[in-house]
Amino acid sequence: MDAFINDRKNQILTKGKDDATIACGKASVAGSVSQRACVFCGSRVVLYPIADALHLIHGPVGCAAYTWDIRGALSSGPQIHRLSFTTDLKEKEVVFGGEERLYKALISLIETYKPKGAFVYATCIVGVIGDDVEAVCRRVTRETGIDVIPVMSEGFNGTKKDGYKIACGALAKLIGTDTTYEAPEYSINILGDFNLAGELWMLAEYYKKMGVNLVGAMTGDGRIDDIRKAHKAHLNIVQCSGSMIGLAKEMKEKYGIPFMKVSYFGIEDMSDALYEVAKFFKSDEMMEKARTLVKEELSVLLPALAQYRQKLEGKKAAIYVGGAFKAISLVKALRLIGMKTVVVGSQTGNVDDYNLLKEMCDDGTIIVDDSNPNELSEFVKQTGADLFIGGVKERPIAYKLGLGFCDHNHERKEALAGYEGMLNFAKEVYASVCSPVWQFMK
Ligand code: SF4
Repeated sequence: MDAFINDRKNQILTKGKDDATIACGKASVAGSVSQRACVFCGSRVVLYPIADALHLIHGPVGCAAYTWDIRGALSSGPQIHRLSFTTDLKEKEVVFGGEERLYKALISLIETYKPKGAFVYATCIVGVIGDDVEAVCRRVTRETGIDVIPVMSEGFNGTKKDGYKIACGALAKLIGTDTTYEAPEYSINILGDFNLAGELWMLAEYYKKMGVNLVGAMTGDGRIDDIRKAHKAHLNIVQCSGSMIGLAKEMKEKYGIPFMKVSYFGIEDMSDALYEVAKFFKSDEMMEKARTLVKEELSVLLPALAQYRQKLEGKKAAIYVGGAFKAISLVKALRLIGMKTVVVGSQTGNVDDYNLLKEMCDDGTIIVDDSNPNELSEFVKQTGADLFIGGVKERPIAYKLGLGFCDHNHERKEALAGYEGMLNFAKEVYASVCSPVWQFMK
């Protein structure tokens, strides 16, 4: 363990060797080049898929470039979200303030793009110079009639998880503002799915086949008007609980809407997500439809997976992703194609997530919170992993070490949720792990 910063010792454990509970949910240790994203990035990734809103980053162009098109979040209609607008603050604004520039940018963009709403993200420099972003947003709302919502997400002001909370706060301001809407029977909101590569459409189709109606999706393929009426749904289904559980709890308290946590990755979790909804609505007919759907999907999927399992049996995987709930599903999905998880970690996991991971994984698996490139490289070498599953920041680690990589983060363009997604996952893992290119690396 010499390669690791001493202060991080209690954020790393090896199953079967360490009994202590993992430390998590705290600020990154100074000097550790964390893989974590900043507060601004956290709020941006949550709100970005709202496709008919204007997303304006009040800050330097670097913050906007960093998060430009950060999710492969597809829209079935408007595409304003795919543009990365920024006030491009420079030395002059740092000295004299950037409020006037923000006001002018908002007026001009609203006039040009006619969005249904606008989000203004405050970045590090705005926190330093002290622009009154909220006052500018209020003024523009008054003058244009468009809801301009400040997202006070100064990058240095906490962790990526704090950014999620701030994003949920912004959504909460919209929810409940359509007072005329009445939802049909069996209505749900989908929370924490971001329509990466069109995954939301697959899920909505499954639910539709069961007779379930979708009121609002937050935030994949999101629309401002749907979010306004989301308080009328009968159930909130939360996929990425790390980002959206706070909002689900708030909606339960404020509007009495119950929520359930689900995962759409892997056969077991996907099927459970459908069965649990049918159970919630206490409908035998809906349950029967869910069973038929699962049976049909599995009759195609299982034979198709067999050939990949044959090739991948016994291979080892390292996982490092944003949320630990996703890591839990990945361990199960890998098991289904014959692979063993030897390293698993996340940027924002909580104690319950890590306890579950500890329970699920085999002895010798390294479990880590808020890791850094040094540690991850070391873990991969120690365990002899054949595959690294992560996001954009983990890809170079994998390639430098000469092992296969699978992108399972929000930048990806391949649908991995649902039954179709499970097959895509197996294909991608196989193509990466068994690529002939690795023989030239060892
Ligand atoms: S840490 Fe600050 S400067 Fe860097 S991307 Fe986040 S908000 Fe921008």
